[in-house]
Amino acid sequence: MHCPFCGAIDTKVIDSRLVSEGNHVRRRRECTNCKERFTTYESAELVMPRIIKQDGIREPFNEDKLLAGLNKALEKRPVNIERVEEAVNRIKATLRATGEREIQSRDVGEQVMKELRGLDEVAFVRFASVYRSFKDLNEFREEIDRLSKDTSN
Ligand SMILES: [Zn+2]
Repeated sequence: MHCPFCGAIDTKVIDSRLVSEGNHVRRRRECTNCKERFTTYESAELVMPRIIKQDGIREPFNEDKLLAGLNKALEKRPVNIERVEEAVNRIKATLRATGEREIQSRDVGEQVMKELRGLDEVAFVRFASVYRSFKDLNEFREEIDRLSKDTSN
């Protein structure tokens, strides 16, 4: 991190401690050039990327909406709610791990399809047929083949 006073590239950490119940690291730094001292705070980036919808409109990631989508596909299917919540957490972790600030809604859809495929075939087919709006049955079959290959890797 550059010195905010003189712009020197090299600064050294002279003190480092955990603050706000361990969620932040506070570092006291000293510039090796001008000897000015300053403080930096470091915390994990837990912000979800924003979703870019098909019409280009951006909206904040909405976990309730994601869960509702999964639950709708899983309606009257024998799948434990805990497994659904695990799937939601995995999807969130995957989206965060991209490191992107914005993400296409279809990429979220892809993740949902992957998870549903592991949870329940019927729910997967329900979701995929609505989400993909396949032109014909062949296209749908190809998609299922593609996803089978993905999950076997
Ligand atoms: Zn400096």
